[in-house]
Amino acid sequence: RDMTWSATVSPMPKAGGLLLVFEDRTEMAEASQMRRDFVANVSHELKTPLTAISGFIETLRGAARNDPAAQDRFLGIMESEATRMNRLIRDLLSLNRVESEERVRPKGKADLAGIVGAVMRNLGNLSDGEGVTLTAEGVEAPLLVPGDPDQLTQVVANLTENAIKYSGRGSTVTLRLTSEDANPMVLGPAAILSVSDTGEGFDPTHIPRLTERFYRVDTHRSRAQGGTGLGLAIVKHIVNRHRGRLRIESAPGQGSRFSVILPRNT
Ligand code: ADP
Repeated sequence: RDMTWSATVSPMPKAGGLLLVFEDRTEMAEASQMRRDFVANVSHELKTPLTAISGFIETLRGAARNDPAAQDRFLGIMESEATRMNRLIRDLLSLNRVESEERVRPKGKADLAGIVGAVMRNLGNLSDGEGVTLTAEGVEAPLLVPGDPDQLTQVVANLTENAIKYSGRGSTVTLRLTSEDANPMVLGPAAILSVSDTGEGFDPTHIPRLTERFYRVDTHRSRAQGGTGLGLAIVKHIVNRHRGRLRIESAPGQGSRFSVILPRNT
């Protein structure tokens, strides 16, 4: 790729020579561009609900002043826009935390079978509401991995929630646990958690960008489902922290599978 280098030349009086300091300006420029894009994205994501809320306040004071039915409807919309802002801020804080901890090795042990059970219980209402069948396989016995139980719960919850939200009425979401003695992706014994759905899937060309913050295959659908566009970015950082790998497979019309491969020994 193209590289832009900058050199700082400073005289070194004692040694009687020159010190040349090279730095990769391409990487620095990319990092600050990413920061600017991120700030622009966050501002836009917050401004959309705020604009709606401000607009409805105006209407409640004016045109809808003596119309209780309209007031009720507008207050409902304002409430859901406020909820959207809350969710976004919650996910931003969560992303911030997992990013700052990414280089800190997780302490403790987590039982993936217990985590799958807890996530199934928590998301039972959502799957019922969406008309999706939620099932699990391989969860009869505990499957222990070194790791942070809360963060791994967040991984399983985010992947399962996505599968439920995007696969639609009548589809099935399956959480499957398997264990391997030697997995090439983690160079040793591994625990694999996969979340597959029989939904619409997407074109695999999206896969490389899917874990980027705010990247969505279908923005309209994500917003309608209350998505923040940060769920998979959070998953990626947690999986990295655990020295694991995230594998994404999808085919249009056939559904998707998200697999987390975690080392059992670290
Ligand atoms: P969001 O809050 O939009 O769900 P995510 O980071 O969790 O953000 O996911 C990014 C995008 O990936 C989603 O907007 C959606 O387009 C796509 N996606 C994630 N999981 C699935 C799935 N199981 N089936 C179809 N599309 C999915």
